Amino acid sequence: MAYVCVQCGKKIKQLENFVRCPYCGGRILVKGRPNIAREYQTD
Ligand SMILES: [Zn+2]
Repeated sequence: MAYVCVQCGKKIKQLENFVRCPYCGGRILVKGRPNIAREYQTD
């Protein structure tokens, strides 16, 4: 399950050792791609 930083758009695979984006320091990380919400179905 990959995460994406909403600030720089970098993909982050592991989200255990850090709380912020290691690239830009962004603190907002979302699952998958921000633009694509099709895989975000919970039903
Ligand atoms: Zn970032």
